[in-house]
Amino acid sequence: MSKSEQLFAQAQQHIPGGVNSPVRAFKGVGGTPIFFDHAKGAYAYDVDGNRYIDYVGSWGPMILGHSAPEILDAVRAQMENGLSFGAPTGIETEMANEVCKLFPSIDMVRMANSGTEATMSAIRLARGFTGRDKLVKFEGCYHGHSDSLLVKAGSGMLTLGVPTSPGVPASVAEHTVTLNYNDLDSVKECFAQIGDQIACVIIEPVAGNMNCIPPSKSFLQGLRELCTVHGIVLIFDEVMSGFRAALGGAQQYYGITPDMTCLGKVIGGGLPVGAFGGKREIMEHLAPLGPVYQAGTLSGNPLAMAAGLAMLKAIQQPGFYQQLNDRVQQLLNGLQAAADQHGIAFTHNSAGSMFGIFFTELDQVSCFKDVAEQCDGERFNRFFHGMLEQGVYLAPSAFEAGFMSIAHTEEDIQHTIDAASIVMASLKG
Ligand code: PMP
Repeated sequence: MSKSEQLFAQAQQHIPGGVNSPVRAFKGVGGTPIFFDHAKGAYAYDVDGNRYIDYVGSWGPMILGHSAPEILDAVRAQMENGLSFGAPTGIETEMANEVCKLFPSIDMVRMANSGTEATMSAIRLARGFTGRDKLVKFEGCYHGHSDSLLVKAGSGMLTLGVPTSPGVPASVAEHTVTLNYNDLDSVKECFAQIGDQIACVIIEPVAGNMNCIPPSKSFLQGLRELCTVHGIVLIFDEVMSGFRAALGGAQQYYGITPDMTCLGKVIGGGLPVGAFGGKREIMEHLAPLGPVYQAGTLSGNPLAMAAGLAMLKAIQQPGFYQQLNDRVQQLLNGLQAAADQHGIAFTHNSAGSMFGIFFTELDQVSCFKDVAEQCDGERFNRFFHGMLEQGVYLAPSAFEAGFMSIAHTEEDIQHTIDAASIVMASLKG
């Protein structure tokens, strides 16, 4: 029995499923989750002494690679001054200033502790601001696990939303309308019928939770225009795409301005963080300035702020994004060539340093149904385990994006491509 297997068996005694977040359990891909011991740069090391080139990067935050010295130094220095005060600190203002500089659509920002908190609070604020209850989201986008968001479409577009998890009251789910990503006509039709009841639209402006699916620019543009016409708050959930699609997020990448933005992951440098912000007139409705309540004992935590600020400084170095994005293209071109060489139906998507690979006959994968119905999940699972044996750690699910870090060298990427070629040769049967 490997140490990972032993630890997994022990973990299941007192942790549901042995994990503190479901995707870690390898349920989709099968097998035993790898238990990690430590990580440095592009590599993560498991408890059995194996090294993996890591393309998960803690699901996005590790854009500098693991244990980046500048982040560790910043946390160490802050640590000496105290771990939490539950009172204002100057470093929170530094963070707010930096966020507002990098995201010009954000006039004011509130820090929280997770992406879930950020989206949940942004939605409450949009509801409080507009006085409307309904919200629109898109199939395949994930915005955390708050009740209003664990909802799928009913049988027809405007029929009541259906909870995707027991425990979510139907009376909450009924306020959520779920439409198809990249389908502007469905948005038009929905707004024409109930636009005056909709508080907000929340969207991943590059989807990273149905694998990686960028929007068409006309879709995002159209959404922006329709929201403006109907007085609906447009929320970009950039928890993943923020600092990834581009330094200024997908909104910079596509040149489209939302009313509100949610952030997380990279902005905390690997410590627990979330943030939501946007137009001043909306943010002024938030307590203590306005009536919409939201709070947090550890919000704006000094360690998280120090890690996040060090991170934001590092990623603004000249040439950072060019190098990062070049590495993604090197990887994807190499993987595509390997697949073509072995006659494996394969395509890929990317936006900045987020990427997705698909075992499919489709030329383009552009919505949830494409991933769920037109991609070969079984082949992905075999590829995933083959890559693991070759020392490459991909996301353990065909519905998750991959992430590049600046610590991945050209050699790491070539090693990954060579490994993929070996594994793909075995996938044909
Ligand atoms: N929004 C998006 C786009 C995400 O990718 C995630 C998490 N992967 C969340 C929200 C929720 O963030 P958290 O897991 O920190 O609650």
